[in-house]
Amino acid sequence: MSLDTNTKNRQSHSLKPERQEFRQKLFNPLENEAVSPKKYYPKFKKNLKEFKKQASKLNFYPLGSHENYPGNYDNYVQMTLSHIQQINKLKFEYALEDKNLYKGVPDYSNQQRNGRKILLLDLDETLIHADFIREFANDKTNKYDAIVKFRETESDFEENNEESKEEFYEKRKMALEKLEEVKKEYRVGIFIRKGAKQFLAEVSKYFEVGIFTASVKEYADAVIDYLDPDKNMIKFRLYRNNCINVNDKIYVKDLRIIKGVDLKDIILIDNSMYSFTAQLTNGILINSFYNDKNDIELYNVLGYLLNFLLKVDDVRMINEQFFNFQKISNDIGENL
Ligand SMILES: [Mg+2]
Repeated sequence: MSLDTNTKNRQSHSLKPERQEFRQKLFNPLENEAVSPKKYYPKFKKNLKEFKKQASKLNFYPLGSHENYPGNYDNYVQMTLSHIQQINKLKFEYALEDKNLYKGVPDYSNQQRNGRKILLLDLDETLIHADFIREFANDKTNKYDAIVKFRETESDFEENNEESKEEFYEKRKMALEKLEEVKKEYRVGIFIRKGAKQFLAEVSKYFEVGIFTASVKEYADAVIDYLDPDKNMIKFRLYRNNCINVNDKIYVKDLRIIKGVDLKDIILIDNSMYSFTAQLTNGILINSFYNDKNDIELYNVLGYLLNFLLKVDDVRMINEQFFNFQKISNDIGENL
């Protein structure tokens, strides 16, 4: 060990906790390398603020997932892509500076995937549908395919980049007190999309499978634990904090947060077109599932994945040939 390293270690051990925390802040979450706080921090906050300001000016009403039903596909695609035209005027690079986006995201520059492509699956209305309306009902009937239980925990309260540490801790303290008061345990009845478990078993043989949901961690974990009880099919889990929240209207799943994988090797299956906003050609849009026992969409998607995407060099080219999302979006742009 060199003298330099020794000196560094001594210094860091002698630092008070708050100084150590400050030192940690000097690391850029995007690059994992030290940057000057003067250079980085003011810009960081300014850009996020600017993103939120621009987003607040957007003027559209997002379609709900119930609009993505069989028979309404073309209409849904057209309408949502016309919204996405507007949303894409925002600078997503600014939003990508939010450090919360990177929590729990796998870094494939240090991790093996043996040439396998990354397959990201949405949860709600893609693999399952949860009946939140009756979340408190002590439903003992066998109406649902499963009932999952979860509790809210601290992780629901993400640090906001704009508020001070004090504000954040105060907010969290209040939230926890409230939680203590109600001691809430959620029970949620879920319907499983036909073939969901077989689908997971099959795709996990060929792809590096992750869940990417806009739901909160506690609920999502309960559902994912049910779908993959032995934890051998789903390699990683991304939640609401990993999505870019656009003005509380939509959650965008920007695939650039996954490090060490070219976008040509990432696929996202989702029932909401808005999830694809930042990378339209990586998306496979699936009809929303509620409780249709005759639904066979997962079988269709499985066929598409294995026959058309598994071996290709760039999934985006094939997706675009099939779905034309980019072309439709460009056409809408020209006609605006
Ligand atoms: Mg969904």
